[in-house]
Amino acid sequence: MGSPSCEDVRVATLISTDEARRRVLASVQALTAEPVALEAALGRVVAEDVHSRADMPPFDSSAMDGFAVGPGEEGELAIAGESRAGSPSADRLRPGLAMAISTGAAVPEGASAVVPVERAEVSEHAVRVPATPEGDNIRRRGEALRHGDVLLRRGAQLGPAAVGVLASAGLSEVLCARRPRVAILATGDELVPPGQALEPGQIWSSNPLALAGQVTLAGGETVSSETVADDPGATRSALGQALESADVVCVSGGVSVGPHDHVKGALAHLGVSESFWGVALKPGKPTWFGTLERGGRTVLAYGLPGNPVSAMVTFQLFVRPALRALQGADPGAARTTAVLDEPVRRVLTREHAVRCVLRSAQDGLHVYPTGPQGSHVLSSMSAAEALAMIAAGEGTANAGERVPVELLTGVWCPR
Ligand code: AMP
Ligand code: MG
Repeated sequence: MGSPSCEDVRVATLISTDEARRRVLASVQALTAEPVALEAALGRVVAEDVHSRADMPPFDSSAMDGFAVGPGEEGELAIAGESRAGSPSADRLRPGLAMAISTGAAVPEGASAVVPVERAEVSEHAVRVPATPEGDNIRRRGEALRHGDVLLRRGAQLGPAAVGVLASAGLSEVLCARRPRVAILATGDELVPPGQALEPGQIWSSNPLALAGQVTLAGGETVSSETVADDPGATRSALGQALESADVVCVSGGVSVGPHDHVKGALAHLGVSESFWGVALKPGKPTWFGTLERGGRTVLAYGLPGNPVSAMVTFQLFVRPALRALQGADPGAARTTAVLDEPVRRVLTREHAVRCVLRSAQDGLHVYPTGPQGSHVLSSMSAAEALAMIAAGEGTANAGERVPVELLTGVWCPR
């Protein structure tokens, strides 16, 4: 029995997406921290406030290639020596002299400004310079950062610039939350790995790769990815193994009430306690979530619907926030609002997550649907940059209406 048409999870027992997310986040215990080399730190979440260990720049330095001059100097000055980046001059700049200096080089003692080479007339041993205000083209020690300044707050996710900032302040490693270990388990007799020939009734399995990609973008690490047949024993044994090693287990498919859906039974058998089953969401109604206390830690277990779009949407809404919270990052960072460009029919009893393209307009972000919204139409998910979250009810959400949107990971900038 396919999940989208399955009306067996009764409407009365469905919880809202907000409530589902609340229950998930209430189960999260932050993971421990570990030092991470900067080379491997991109995308990681910082586990403590990080302070600069030095002034930046560490010395007064030149912002230009040119000549260092003393206070009040102008006109013809003899050139005395050079201060190069990495090779500061040991000499003090004496009155009446100028010192050649390159960008990033230490400003010699006695100098009060740098005249850019473009404004200097250079002859063989001398240079003619205009009057130059004190401090011109000098970057003062500590101007960018002072020793002890906070470089990054705990919970910040390291982007390229943040990694650069840490490097610029002399750090070679940073304390980060451990990456959540995620086990993926796909269920279904019909599933065949991509690349293999299909027998009648079979389909290529897409959920493991799509979900593993989402895990990576949420900062997690996929530690195992298995596929099991619709068999109670096989499901129990694969789930048991997944629960052993992972912080988070994502099962896809088999979570409805069809005769071949064994996931809930296996979870119960293994002692995973149910937090919810059934969310007032389209697509994603049969989503199941529960926890298992094991070895002093809480393992989060999800039964995600098998339909490829439903699996990805429910991952985005319920798994991704947990993966971020496990790392101490803001779980809700991907929420904003946008104006609908086209009317969208509401679903009477469920919030409708509509796959949309983002468009930037004068009044901010706009969204329009990517096309057919069936929960098996994964191509319209791949074209999507955001999910517009259309509240349940009668009629339609009209064009021009502002609605909440969930930005899909990695898509932060409207074109
Ligand atoms: P289920 O939730 O097991 O009832 O599956 C719902 C629908 O999703 C069925 O059409 C399945 O064939 C399909 N499905 C389940 N698992 C996968 C998967 N790993 N890749 C692609 N489609 C799947
Ligand atoms: Mg199935």
